[in-house]
Amino acid sequence: MNVTYFCKTCDQVTRVPFTEQSTAVHCTRCSAEQKFPATFLNEDAEGNTVLERCTICGSPELYYRKQFNQRLGLAIIALGSTLSTIAYYYHNLFWTFLILFVFAGVDLLFYIFMRNLLQCYKCNSEFRGFEDSPEYQPFNLEVHEKYHQQRVRLERAQKEQAWLEQQAARQNQNNSDEADS
Ligand SMILES: [Zn+2]
Ligand SMILES: [Zn+2]
Repeated sequence: MNVTYFCKTCDQVTRVPFTEQSTAVHCTRCSAEQKFPATFLNEDAEGNTVLERCTICGSPELYYRKQFNQRLGLAIIALGSTLSTIAYYYHNLFWTFLILFVFAGVDLLFYIFMRNLLQCYKCNSEFRGFEDSPEYQPFNLEVHEKYHQQRVRLERAQKEQAWLEQQAARQNQNNSDEADS
């Protein structure tokens, strides 16, 4: 399996392979090490290897979704509707609907055979190529909202902190100006 994550050392997105035995991944760009305990990978009741926690931030909350390529999906639909519009223009209703039907079917097949992808709610890291397990949960809006609120609060706190430091620096500047004069 592999993990796609945002490396904080070089500020870039990187994709690194790892196995059940791995206890660290190395950024492909800056080779910064990202360690994680062996307990993050476990086995479920059926003997499948399961990812218990995000190996990047350690959060236990992950969700799985289809790794559907939206651009490809939209391109298929766009091509289908263009071709059916041409058929419609030539008053060929049979072809108009046949084309629409076939292209919708192709999109559906793509969706059905698309492999799953695990994503971390907290740091958005993506895991691919893992074994499926009934332990994995689909996307949950409440959990997503919880992490979103956390991020918003953290950003606000950081901004407040920066503002307070700015004020303190200005105060110091004023004091030293007064002392000088
Ligand atoms: Zn890096
Ligand atoms: Zn994470």
